[in-house]
Amino acid sequence: MSGKFIVLTGGVGGAKLVLGLSQLVPPKQLTAIVNTGDDFEHLGLAISPDIDTLLYTLSGKANAEQGWGRAAESWAFMTALRELGGEDWFQLGDGDLALHVLRTMRLRAGDSLSKICADFARAWEIGAAILPMSDERVATIVTTDEGDLPFQHYFVARRCEPKVRAVRFEGAATAKAALGAVDAILHPEVEAILIAPSNPYLSVDPILAVPEIRSALERATAPVVAVSPIVGGKAVKGPTAKLMAELGIEISPASVAAHYEGLIDAMLVDIRDGQVALGIKTRSADTLMVTLEDRVRVAAEALALARDLRG
Ligand code: GDP
Repeated sequence: MSGKFIVLTGGVGGAKLVLGLSQLVPPKQLTAIVNTGDDFEHLGLAISPDIDTLLYTLSGKANAEQGWGRAAESWAFMTALRELGGEDWFQLGDGDLALHVLRTMRLRAGDSLSKICADFARAWEIGAAILPMSDERVATIVTTDEGDLPFQHYFVARRCEPKVRAVRFEGAATAKAALGAVDAILHPEVEAILIAPSNPYLSVDPILAVPEIRSALERATAPVVAVSPIVGGKAVKGPTAKLMAELGIEISPASVAAHYEGLIDAMLVDIRDGQVALGIKTRSADTLMVTLEDRVRVAAEALALARDLRG
């Protein structure tokens, strides 16, 4: 394969697809545009959870059982922090901490998040480009029955328990896309633009809320294919289904397709959800990604759907 491939992605669900893709296409031809709406400052450190999930997953360092952070992590910092009465609701492993310290230091020195991210990827020999959606601050705020919560407070500290009324992305409307993101989407050699099976409302929407990215997707000549995060009428993991129910949205691939209307040309739907008429081209496959083979298979199905669209 000689063309270029773009993926819009959140953390865990999206990283599974990106890892599958990186086994199918030369990593140099792959660009992941990553949600930074979850980014936050904690203990004085700049933390980018979705970018880090991509970095750990693509460098083989991810903790697969846990679903976040690094494998074979040690926790001396957290133990010491707790002893001193520090805020301990957000787990920071010792290895993970190194990444946050370096990122924070470089951001303070004036480097952009995308440059820092590219340097980390190079240090860990990741061939794919991992681009934050924006170098500017965008913050996902969840309006709940307990009031407005910054994303990590909702997700980690409150374990997604509060009922969600609305979600907004502060700063997105005026944020510029990270350098290279728009050019990557509009490059004439792009063969497929994939929307990973990430949470549409919490992980993909922040990316789409950056005006230059949405507009590039609308103008892109390459086929845009979404992979459904709904498998057999449920979300595989995380708050997607709970949040859809709380927002009064039917939990189905059709709802996700409707949510992306005007942006996507096709959707890869899980075989468990049957034949669905979405008004766009669909393909059905087993989209559950448990093993590496599953990840490669789902990526191949999504690419096949894009190829069908190119005719
Ligand atoms: P986060 O940012 O770490 O919360 O993760 P994402 O937003 O990238 O992914 C969460 C979404 O991925 C959930 O809606 C899941 O249903 C979906 N997901 C996770 N694993 C799979 C899988 O194996 N197959 C499919 N189709 N969706 C998945």
